[in-house]
Amino acid sequence: MSSSKSSTNASWQVLQGLEFSYAELPAAMYSWVAPQPVRAPQLCLLNKPLAIDLGFDPEALSTPLAVRILAGCDMPDARLPLAQAYAGYQFGHFAILGDGRSQLLGEKITPDGRRVDIQLKGSGATPYARRGDGRAVLAPMLREYLISEAMHALGVPTTRSLAVVTTGEPVYRDRALPGAILTRVAASHIRVGTFQFAALQGKECLTTLADYTIQRHYPDLKDRANPYLGLLERVIERQAALIARWMLLGFVHGVMNTDNVSIAGETIDYGPCAFIDAYEPATVFSSIDRQGRYAFGNQPNIGHWNLCRFAESLLPLLDTDETKAIELAQQAINTYATQYDSAWRQGMANKLGFAERTPDIDQLADDFLQLLQTTGADYTSSFRALMRQALPTEFNPWQQRRQRLIDQQPGGVPAALALMAKVNPVVIPRNHLVQAALDAAEQGDTQPFNQLLSVIQTPFDPEHQDSIYAQPAPPDAAPYVTYCGT
Ligand code: AMP
Ligand code: MG
Repeated sequence: MSSSKSSTNASWQVLQGLEFSYAELPAAMYSWVAPQPVRAPQLCLLNKPLAIDLGFDPEALSTPLAVRILAGCDMPDARLPLAQAYAGYQFGHFAILGDGRSQLLGEKITPDGRRVDIQLKGSGATPYARRGDGRAVLAPMLREYLISEAMHALGVPTTRSLAVVTTGEPVYRDRALPGAILTRVAASHIRVGTFQFAALQGKECLTTLADYTIQRHYPDLKDRANPYLGLLERVIERQAALIARWMLLGFVHGVMNTDNVSIAGETIDYGPCAFIDAYEPATVFSSIDRQGRYAFGNQPNIGHWNLCRFAESLLPLLDTDETKAIELAQQAINTYATQYDSAWRQGMANKLGFAERTPDIDQLADDFLQLLQTTGADYTSSFRALMRQALPTEFNPWQQRRQRLIDQQPGGVPAALALMAKVNPVVIPRNHLVQAALDAAEQGDTQPFNQLLSVIQTPFDPEHQDSIYAQPAPPDAAPYVTYCGT
Protein backbone atom coordinates (compact mmCIF):
# COMPACT_ATOMS: atom_id res chain seq x y z
CA MET A 1 0.00 0.00 0.00
CA SER A 2 1.36 3.44 -0.90
CA SER A 3 2.11 5.83 1.92
CA SER A 4 -0.25 8.45 0.49
CA LYS A 5 -3.11 5.92 0.59
CA SER A 6 -2.41 4.98 4.19
CA SER A 7 -2.26 8.64 5.28
CA THR A 8 -5.55 9.19 3.43
CA ASN A 9 -7.12 6.38 5.42
CA ALA A 10 -5.72 7.70 8.68
CA SER A 11 -7.12 11.16 8.00
CA TRP A 12 -10.59 9.78 7.39
CA GLN A 13 -10.45 7.51 10.35
CA VAL A 14 -9.30 10.12 12.80
CA LEU A 15 -12.78 11.62 13.10
CA GLN A 16 -14.72 8.44 12.47
CA GLY A 17 -16.77 6.56 15.00
CA LEU A 18 -17.71 9.54 17.16
CA GLU A 19 -20.72 8.77 19.34
CA PHE A 20 -24.09 10.49 19.55
CA SER A 21 -25.46 9.71 22.99
CA TYR A 22 -27.27 13.06 22.75
CA ALA A 23 -29.50 11.57 20.05
CA GLU A 24 -31.08 9.33 22.70
CA LEU A 25 -32.95 12.42 23.87
CA PRO A 26 -36.46 13.12 22.52
CA ALA A 27 -36.44 14.25 18.89
CA ALA A 28 -37.63 17.76 19.83
CA MET A 29 -34.25 18.38 21.47
CA TYR A 30 -32.17 18.40 18.28
CA SER A 31 -32.13 18.18 14.48
CA TRP A 32 -29.85 16.17 12.24
CA VAL A 33 -28.45 18.75 9.88
CA ALA A 34 -25.71 18.76 7.30
CA PRO A 35 -23.13 21.53 7.46
CA GLN A 36 -22.98 23.70 4.35
CA PRO A 37 -19.76 23.06 2.44
CA VAL A 38 -17.35 25.93 1.93
CA ARG A 39 -15.22 26.82 -1.08
CA ALA A 40 -11.61 26.50 0.00
CA PRO A 41 -11.03 25.14 3.49
CA GLN A 42 -7.58 25.64 4.95
CA LEU A 43 -6.23 24.76 8.35
CA CYS A 44 -5.38 27.93 10.21
CA LEU A 45 -4.77 26.61 13.76
CA LEU A 46 -4.61 23.16 15.28
CA ASN A 47 -4.27 22.60 19.01
CA LYS A 48 -1.88 19.64 18.96
CA PRO A 49 -1.57 19.10 22.73
CA LEU A 50 -5.37 19.11 23.02
CA ALA A 51 -5.68 16.76 20.02
CA ILE A 52 -3.37 14.30 21.76
CA ASP A 53 -5.23 14.62 25.10
CA LEU A 54 -8.45 13.80 23.27
CA GLY A 55 -6.93 10.76 21.61
CA PHE A 56 -6.66 12.21 18.08
CA ASP A 57 -3.54 11.90 15.93
CA PRO A 58 -2.63 15.55 15.22
CA GLU A 59 -0.88 14.62 11.96
CA ALA A 60 -4.01 12.90 10.69
CA LEU A 61 -6.12 15.88 11.77
CA SER A 62 -3.93 18.18 9.65
CA THR A 63 -4.43 16.33 6.35
CA PRO A 64 -6.62 17.94 3.67
CA LEU A 65 -9.32 15.29 4.10
CA ALA A 66 -9.57 15.83 7.85
CA VAL A 67 -9.57 19.60 7.30
CA ARG A 68 -12.55 19.15 4.95
CA ILE A 69 -14.41 17.50 7.83
CA LEU A 70 -13.45 20.33 10.19
CA ALA A 71 -14.81 22.73 7.55
CA GLY A 72 -18.10 20.87 7.22
CA CYS A 73 -17.37 19.82 3.60
CA ASP A 74 -17.39 16.10 4.34
CA MET A 75 -18.92 13.93 7.04
CA PRO A 76 -16.70 11.54 8.94
CA ASP A 77 -19.40 8.85 8.86
CA ALA A 78 -22.61 8.18 6.95
CA ARG A 79 -24.52 9.90 9.74
CA LEU A 80 -25.21 13.66 9.74
CA PRO A 81 -24.09 15.88 12.59
CA LEU A 82 -26.73 17.39 14.87
CA ALA A 83 -27.74 20.84 16.01
CA GLN A 84 -29.12 21.19 19.52
CA ALA A 85 -32.32 22.99 20.44
CA TYR A 86 -32.35 25.27 23.45
CA ALA A 87 -34.00 28.35 24.83
CA GLY A 88 -32.62 31.17 26.91
CA TYR A 89 -33.10 34.45 28.67
CA GLN A 90 -31.11 36.93 26.62
CA PHE A 91 -30.61 40.16 28.58
CA GLY A 92 -33.59 39.06 30.65
CA HIS A 93 -35.91 38.26 27.72
CA PHE A 94 -36.96 34.70 26.99
CA ALA A 95 -36.38 33.32 23.49
CA ILE A 96 -36.37 29.97 21.71
CA LEU A 97 -32.87 29.49 20.33
CA GLY A 98 -30.68 26.54 19.38
CA ASP A 99 -27.42 25.96 17.55
CA GLY A 100 -27.99 28.45 14.76
CA ARG A 101 -24.52 28.07 13.29
CA SER A 102 -23.09 25.02 15.07
CA GLN A 103 -23.23 21.30 14.60
CA LEU A 104 -22.14 18.50 16.86
CA LEU A 105 -19.77 16.27 14.88
CA GLY A 106 -20.16 13.76 17.66
CA GLU A 107 -18.86 12.81 21.09
CA LYS A 108 -15.31 11.61 21.53
CA ILE A 109 -14.39 9.23 24.31
CA THR A 110 -10.94 10.37 25.42
CA PRO A 111 -8.14 7.98 26.39
CA ASP A 112 -8.86 8.83 30.04
CA GLY A 113 -12.51 7.89 29.61
CA ARG A 114 -14.20 11.29 29.37
CA ARG A 115 -16.99 11.92 26.87
CA VAL A 116 -16.57 15.29 25.15
CA ASP A 117 -18.50 17.10 22.44
CA ILE A 118 -16.70 17.94 19.21
CA GLN A 119 -18.64 20.81 17.68
CA LEU A 120 -18.21 22.94 14.58
CA LYS A 121 -19.09 26.61 14.99
CA GLY A 122 -19.70 28.68 11.86
CA SER A 123 -20.46 25.66 9.69
CA GLY A 124 -23.72 26.87 8.16
CA ALA A 125 -27.30 27.75 9.03
CA THR A 126 -29.47 25.21 10.86
CA PRO A 127 -33.23 25.13 11.52
CA TYR A 128 -32.42 27.25 14.61
CA ALA A 129 -30.61 29.99 12.68
CA ARG A 130 -33.58 32.36 12.73
CA ARG A 131 -32.31 35.03 10.35
CA GLY A 132 -28.60 34.37 10.87
CA ASP A 133 -26.32 33.24 8.05
CA GLY A 134 -24.87 30.33 10.03
CA ARG A 135 -21.39 31.65 9.50
CA ALA A 136 -18.56 32.96 11.63
CA VAL A 137 -15.80 35.48 10.99
CA LEU A 138 -12.11 34.63 11.35
CA ALA A 139 -11.14 37.24 13.97
CA PRO A 140 -13.84 36.28 16.53
CA MET A 141 -13.05 32.57 16.07
CA LEU A 142 -9.35 33.25 16.66
CA ARG A 143 -10.40 35.29 19.66
CA GLU A 144 -12.43 32.40 21.09
CA TYR A 145 -9.49 30.05 20.47
CA LEU A 146 -7.04 32.38 22.21
CA ILE A 147 -9.14 33.34 25.23
CA SER A 148 -10.50 29.85 25.88
CA GLU A 149 -6.96 28.47 25.79
CA ALA A 150 -5.83 31.28 28.10
CA MET A 151 -8.62 30.42 30.54
CA HIS A 152 -7.57 26.79 30.45
CA ALA A 153 -3.95 27.73 31.15
CA LEU A 154 -5.19 29.93 34.02
CA GLY A 155 -6.87 26.86 35.51
CA VAL A 156 -10.48 27.91 34.83
CA PRO A 157 -12.99 25.26 33.67
CA THR A 158 -13.73 26.08 30.05
CA THR A 159 -14.69 24.77 26.65
CA ARG A 160 -11.54 24.30 24.56
CA SER A 161 -10.58 25.06 20.99
CA LEU A 162 -9.24 22.27 18.82
CA ALA A 163 -8.93 24.00 15.46
CA VAL A 164 -9.75 26.97 13.29
CA VAL A 165 -10.14 26.54 9.55
CA THR A 166 -10.61 29.38 7.12
CA THR A 167 -13.36 28.86 4.57
CA GLY A 168 -12.06 30.86 1.61
CA GLU A 169 -15.43 32.62 1.58
CA PRO A 170 -16.37 36.10 2.72
CA VAL A 171 -18.88 36.61 5.51
CA TYR A 172 -20.92 39.79 5.34
CA ARG A 173 -21.19 41.84 8.52
CA ASP A 174 -20.83 45.61 8.33
CA ARG A 175 -18.34 44.73 5.57
CA ALA A 176 -17.05 41.56 3.90
CA LEU A 177 -14.78 39.65 6.30
CA PRO A 178 -12.89 36.36 6.02
CA GLY A 179 -15.00 33.38 7.12
CA ALA A 180 -13.80 30.65 9.50
CA ILE A 181 -15.03 27.63 11.44
CA LEU A 182 -13.97 26.83 14.99
CA THR A 183 -13.88 23.28 16.34
CA ARG A 184 -15.01 23.58 19.93
CA VAL A 185 -14.57 20.89 22.56
CA ALA A 186 -16.85 20.85 25.59
CA ALA A 187 -17.71 18.48 28.45
CA SER A 188 -21.12 18.94 26.85
CA HIS A 189 -23.16 21.76 25.37
CA ILE A 190 -26.03 21.26 27.82
CA ARG A 191 -27.00 24.68 29.10
CA VAL A 192 -29.51 26.13 31.53
CA GLY A 193 -31.32 27.08 28.32
CA THR A 194 -31.42 23.40 27.29
CA PHE A 195 -33.45 22.69 30.44
CA GLN A 196 -35.69 25.67 29.76
CA PHE A 197 -36.38 24.28 26.31
CA ALA A 198 -37.02 20.76 27.63
CA ALA A 199 -39.36 22.09 30.33
CA LEU A 200 -41.50 23.65 27.58
CA GLN A 201 -41.79 20.23 25.90
CA GLY A 202 -43.28 18.72 29.04
CA LYS A 203 -42.32 16.68 32.08
CA GLU A 204 -41.34 13.56 30.19
CA CYS A 205 -38.83 15.39 28.03
CA LEU A 206 -37.49 17.27 31.04
CA THR A 207 -37.04 14.05 32.99
CA THR A 208 -35.18 12.41 30.11
CA LEU A 209 -32.83 15.40 29.80
CA ALA A 210 -32.23 15.50 33.56
CA ASP A 211 -31.49 11.75 33.68
CA TYR A 212 -29.16 12.08 30.69
CA THR A 213 -27.35 15.02 32.30
CA ILE A 214 -26.96 13.21 35.60
CA GLN A 215 -25.63 10.13 33.85
CA ARG A 216 -23.20 12.19 31.80
CA HIS A 217 -21.93 14.71 34.34
CA TYR A 218 -22.89 13.73 37.87
CA PRO A 219 -23.43 9.94 37.87
CA ASP A 220 -22.96 9.67 41.64
CA LEU A 221 -26.30 11.51 42.05
CA LYS A 222 -28.23 8.52 40.71
CA ASP A 223 -28.14 6.91 44.14
CA ARG A 224 -29.59 9.95 45.89
CA ALA A 225 -33.14 9.94 47.21
CA ASN A 226 -33.78 13.05 45.07
CA PRO A 227 -31.22 13.08 42.23
CA TYR A 228 -32.85 16.13 40.58
CA LEU A 229 -32.34 18.21 43.69
CA GLY A 230 -28.78 16.89 43.66
CA LEU A 231 -28.44 18.14 40.08
CA LEU A 232 -29.64 21.60 41.05
CA GLU A 233 -27.22 21.67 44.00
CA ARG A 234 -24.31 20.51 41.87
CA VAL A 235 -24.91 23.13 39.17
CA ILE A 236 -25.17 25.84 41.83
CA GLU A 237 -21.88 24.64 43.33
CA ARG A 238 -20.11 24.64 39.94
CA GLN A 239 -21.41 28.06 38.91
CA ALA A 240 -20.52 29.63 42.27
CA ALA A 241 -16.97 28.27 41.96
CA LEU A 242 -16.69 29.26 38.29
CA ILE A 243 -17.87 32.83 38.70
CA ALA A 244 -15.56 33.24 41.72
CA ARG A 245 -12.66 32.24 39.44
CA TRP A 246 -13.72 34.81 36.83
CA MET A 247 -13.93 37.53 39.46
CA LEU A 248 -10.51 36.67 40.90
CA LEU A 249 -8.97 36.92 37.42
CA GLY A 250 -10.80 40.07 36.35
CA PHE A 251 -12.65 38.22 33.57
CA VAL A 252 -15.82 39.75 32.18
CA HIS A 253 -17.89 37.14 30.33
CA GLY A 254 -20.07 39.79 28.75
CA VAL A 255 -23.10 37.72 27.74
CA MET A 256 -24.26 35.66 30.71
CA ASN A 257 -27.57 34.73 29.11
CA THR A 258 -29.02 31.45 30.39
CA ASP A 259 -28.18 29.81 27.04
CA ASN A 260 -24.53 30.54 27.81
CA VAL A 261 -24.52 28.85 31.23
CA SER A 262 -23.05 25.35 31.05
CA ILE A 263 -24.52 22.64 33.26
CA ALA A 264 -21.05 21.08 33.49
CA GLY A 265 -19.71 24.34 34.94
CA GLU A 266 -17.45 25.31 32.06
CA THR A 267 -16.99 28.85 30.77
CA ILE A 268 -18.80 28.83 27.45
CA ASP A 269 -19.35 31.38 24.68
CA TYR A 270 -16.43 33.70 24.18
CA GLY A 271 -18.30 36.38 22.24
CA PRO A 272 -17.83 39.75 23.90
CA CYS A 273 -15.64 38.71 26.85
CA ALA A 274 -12.55 40.63 27.99
CA PHE A 275 -10.31 41.13 31.03
CA ILE A 276 -10.30 44.28 33.13
CA ASP A 277 -7.16 46.38 33.42
CA ALA A 278 -8.03 48.87 36.19
CA TYR A 279 -10.16 47.45 38.99
CA GLU A 280 -13.60 48.90 38.36
CA PRO A 281 -16.70 46.82 39.15
CA ALA A 282 -18.80 48.85 36.69
CA THR A 283 -16.62 47.79 33.74
CA VAL A 284 -18.59 46.77 30.65
CA PHE A 285 -16.92 45.94 27.32
CA SER A 286 -19.83 44.67 25.26
CA SER A 287 -21.30 47.21 22.84
CA ILE A 288 -24.83 45.90 23.38
CA ASP A 289 -24.76 45.78 27.21
CA ARG A 290 -25.99 49.35 27.61
CA GLN A 291 -27.53 48.84 31.07
CA GLY A 292 -24.44 47.12 32.47
CA ARG A 293 -26.43 43.97 33.21
CA TYR A 294 -23.28 41.88 32.67
CA ALA A 295 -20.81 44.40 34.16
CA PHE A 296 -17.76 42.91 35.88
CA GLY A 297 -19.08 43.48 39.41
CA ASN A 298 -22.59 42.28 38.57
CA GLN A 299 -21.54 38.79 37.46
CA PRO A 300 -22.08 37.08 40.84
CA ASN A 301 -25.64 38.52 41.00
CA ILE A 302 -26.40 37.47 37.45
CA GLY A 303 -25.10 34.01 38.26
CA HIS A 304 -27.71 33.87 41.02
CA TRP A 305 -30.44 35.10 38.67
CA ASN A 306 -29.51 32.47 36.07
CA LEU A 307 -29.54 29.71 38.69
CA CYS A 308 -33.02 30.81 39.79
CA ARG A 309 -34.13 30.29 36.17
CA PHE A 310 -32.52 26.83 36.22
CA ALA A 311 -34.30 25.99 39.47
CA GLU A 312 -37.62 27.12 37.97
CA SER A 313 -37.19 24.84 34.99
CA LEU A 314 -36.47 21.88 37.33
CA LEU A 315 -39.48 22.48 39.63
CA PRO A 316 -41.68 19.71 38.14
CA LEU A 317 -38.94 17.19 38.98
CA LEU A 318 -38.10 18.36 42.49
CA ASP A 319 -41.39 17.29 44.07
CA THR A 320 -44.90 16.41 42.92
CA ASP A 321 -46.19 18.97 45.41
CA GLU A 322 -45.40 22.36 43.86
CA THR A 323 -45.13 24.19 47.20
CA LYS A 324 -42.64 21.60 48.41
CA ALA A 325 -40.72 21.83 45.12
CA ILE A 326 -40.44 25.61 45.43
CA GLU A 327 -39.26 25.26 49.02
CA LEU A 328 -36.53 22.76 48.01
CA ALA A 329 -35.42 24.96 45.12
CA GLN A 330 -35.32 28.03 47.34
CA GLN A 331 -33.23 26.26 49.97
CA ALA A 332 -30.72 25.18 47.34
CA ILE A 333 -30.58 28.63 45.73
CA ASN A 334 -30.05 30.23 49.13
CA THR A 335 -26.70 28.44 49.44
CA TYR A 336 -25.30 30.15 46.31
CA ALA A 337 -24.33 33.46 47.94
CA THR A 338 -22.38 31.76 50.72
CA GLN A 339 -20.68 29.35 48.33
CA TYR A 340 -19.72 32.14 45.98
CA ASP A 341 -18.55 34.38 48.79
CA SER A 342 -16.38 31.76 50.45
CA ALA A 343 -14.80 30.67 47.15
CA TRP A 344 -14.05 34.26 46.19
CA ARG A 345 -12.79 35.27 49.65
CA GLN A 346 -10.60 32.19 49.90
CA GLY A 347 -9.18 32.96 46.44
CA MET A 348 -8.58 36.60 47.35
CA ALA A 349 -6.80 35.59 50.59
CA ASN A 350 -4.54 33.31 48.49
CA LYS A 351 -3.82 36.10 46.01
CA LEU A 352 -2.62 38.24 48.94
CA GLY A 353 -0.42 35.41 50.25
CA PHE A 354 -2.62 33.87 52.95
CA ALA A 355 -3.40 30.16 53.00
CA GLU A 356 -6.44 30.57 55.26
CA ARG A 357 -9.00 33.31 55.63
CA THR A 358 -9.69 35.26 58.83
CA PRO A 359 -11.96 38.29 59.32
CA ASP A 360 -8.83 40.50 59.38
CA ILE A 361 -7.68 39.09 56.03
CA ASP A 362 -11.15 39.55 54.50
CA GLN A 363 -11.03 43.18 55.59
CA LEU A 364 -7.51 43.53 54.22
CA ALA A 365 -8.71 42.22 50.84
CA ASP A 366 -11.65 44.65 50.76
CA ASP A 367 -9.32 47.53 51.55
CA PHE A 368 -6.88 46.44 48.84
CA LEU A 369 -9.62 46.49 46.21
CA GLN A 370 -10.76 49.88 47.49
CA LEU A 371 -7.21 51.20 47.08
CA LEU A 372 -6.94 49.71 43.59
CA GLN A 373 -10.17 51.42 42.66
CA THR A 374 -9.26 54.84 44.04
CA THR A 375 -5.73 54.79 42.59
CA GLY A 376 -6.84 53.35 39.22
CA ALA A 377 -4.04 50.76 39.48
CA ASP A 378 -3.99 47.77 37.15
CA TYR A 379 -5.74 44.78 38.75
CA THR A 380 -3.65 41.83 37.53
CA SER A 381 -0.18 43.33 37.80
CA SER A 382 -0.82 44.88 41.24
CA PHE A 383 -0.77 41.44 42.89
CA ARG A 384 2.59 40.76 41.25
CA ALA A 385 3.79 44.25 42.25
CA LEU A 386 2.83 43.38 45.83
CA MET A 387 5.11 40.33 45.61
CA ARG A 388 8.02 42.55 44.46
CA GLN A 389 7.16 45.31 46.97
CA ALA A 390 6.68 47.57 43.98
CA LEU A 391 3.23 49.03 44.72
CA PRO A 392 2.81 52.84 44.68
CA THR A 393 3.39 54.70 47.96
CA GLU A 394 -0.38 55.14 48.52
CA PHE A 395 -0.37 51.46 49.46
CA ASN A 396 2.28 51.80 52.23
CA PRO A 397 0.01 51.86 55.33
CA TRP A 398 -1.99 48.96 53.87
CA GLN A 399 1.22 47.03 53.17
CA GLN A 400 2.37 47.47 56.76
CA ARG A 401 -0.92 46.04 57.99
CA ARG A 402 -0.56 43.13 55.60
CA GLN A 403 3.02 42.53 56.68
CA ARG A 404 1.95 42.15 60.32
CA LEU A 405 -0.61 39.52 59.29
CA ILE A 406 1.89 37.69 57.06
CA ASP A 407 4.40 37.58 59.94
CA GLN A 408 1.81 35.76 62.07
CA GLN A 409 1.43 33.05 59.41
CA PRO A 410 3.33 29.77 59.42
CA GLY A 411 6.07 30.05 56.79
CA GLY A 412 6.00 33.87 56.82
CA VAL A 413 7.07 35.72 53.68
CA PRO A 414 8.54 32.76 51.71
CA ALA A 415 5.35 30.73 52.08
CA ALA A 416 3.26 33.76 51.09
CA LEU A 417 5.36 34.37 47.98
CA ALA A 418 5.20 30.73 46.94
CA LEU A 419 1.42 30.77 47.23
CA MET A 420 1.06 34.09 45.41
CA ALA A 421 3.27 32.92 42.53
CA LYS A 422 0.83 30.07 41.88
CA VAL A 423 -2.37 32.09 41.84
CA ASN A 424 -1.44 35.51 40.46
CA PRO A 425 -0.90 35.41 36.70
CA VAL A 426 1.85 37.51 35.18
CA VAL A 427 0.06 37.42 31.86
CA ILE A 428 -3.59 37.57 30.92
CA PRO A 429 -4.82 38.17 27.36
CA ARG A 430 -4.60 41.97 27.42
CA ASN A 431 -7.32 43.56 25.33
CA HIS A 432 -5.08 45.87 23.33
CA LEU A 433 -2.70 43.00 22.47
CA VAL A 434 -5.54 40.65 21.55
CA GLN A 435 -6.97 43.30 19.26
CA ALA A 436 -3.62 44.07 17.63
CA ALA A 437 -3.01 40.33 17.07
CA LEU A 438 -6.46 39.85 15.52
CA ASP A 439 -6.10 42.90 13.29
CA ALA A 440 -2.76 41.59 12.01
CA ALA A 441 -4.17 38.09 11.48
CA GLU A 442 -7.06 39.51 9.48
CA GLN A 443 -4.45 41.16 7.23
CA GLY A 444 -2.69 37.80 6.83
CA ASP A 445 0.08 38.29 9.42
CA THR A 446 -0.39 35.58 12.06
CA GLN A 447 2.93 36.13 13.84
CA PRO A 448 1.62 38.45 16.63
CA PHE A 449 -1.29 36.07 17.24
CA ASN A 450 0.94 33.00 17.45
CA GLN A 451 3.34 34.82 19.75
CA LEU A 452 0.52 35.90 22.06
CA LEU A 453 -0.97 32.41 21.99
CA SER A 454 2.36 30.95 23.01
CA VAL A 455 2.81 33.41 25.91
CA ILE A 456 -0.67 32.87 27.33
CA GLN A 457 0.03 29.11 27.63
CA THR A 458 2.30 29.87 30.62
CA PRO A 459 0.53 32.71 32.41
CA PHE A 460 2.31 32.24 35.74
CA ASP A 461 5.84 32.22 34.31
CA PRO A 462 7.83 35.10 35.89
CA GLU A 463 9.94 35.21 32.69
CA HIS A 464 7.13 37.26 31.12
CA GLN A 465 7.34 39.90 33.86
CA ASP A 466 9.24 42.54 31.89
CA SER A 467 7.61 41.83 28.53
CA ILE A 468 4.86 43.85 26.87
CA TYR A 469 2.52 40.92 27.62
CA ALA A 470 2.53 41.77 31.33
CA GLN A 471 1.60 45.44 30.83
CA PRO A 472 -1.89 46.96 30.77
CA ALA A 473 -3.05 49.08 27.85
CA PRO A 474 -1.33 52.48 27.68
CA PRO A 475 -3.28 55.15 29.63
CA ASP A 476 -4.20 57.01 26.44
CA ALA A 477 -5.71 53.87 24.79
CA ALA A 478 -9.31 54.22 23.63
CA PRO A 479 -11.87 52.31 25.77
CA TYR A 480 -12.07 48.69 24.64
CA VAL A 481 -15.35 47.63 23.02
CA THR A 482 -16.39 44.05 22.18
CA TYR A 483 -19.13 42.66 19.95
CA CYS A 484 -21.44 39.60 20.16
CA GLY A 485 -22.41 36.93 17.70
CA THR A 486 -19.94 37.77 14.98
P1 AMP B 1 -24.58 33.77 21.13
O1 AMP B 1 -24.73 35.27 21.23
O2 AMP B 1 -23.32 33.34 20.44
O3 AMP B 1 -24.78 33.10 22.44
O4 AMP B 1 -25.73 33.29 20.14
C1 AMP B 1 -27.08 33.39 20.45
C2 AMP B 1 -27.89 32.61 19.46
O5 AMP B 1 -27.74 33.15 18.14
C3 AMP B 1 -27.51 31.16 19.35
O6 AMP B 1 -28.69 30.44 19.16
C4 AMP B 1 -26.62 31.13 18.12
O7 AMP B 1 -26.61 29.85 17.52
C5 AMP B 1 -27.30 32.15 17.24
N1 AMP B 1 -26.39 32.76 16.25
C6 AMP B 1 -25.38 33.63 16.50
N2 AMP B 1 -24.78 33.99 15.34
C7 AMP B 1 -25.43 33.35 14.35
C8 AMP B 1 -25.29 33.31 12.92
N3 AMP B 1 -24.36 34.02 12.27
N4 AMP B 1 -26.15 32.52 12.23
C9 AMP B 1 -27.08 31.80 12.85
N5 AMP B 1 -27.27 31.80 14.18
C10 AMP B 1 -26.46 32.56 14.93
MG1 MG C 1 -24.16 31.22 22.93
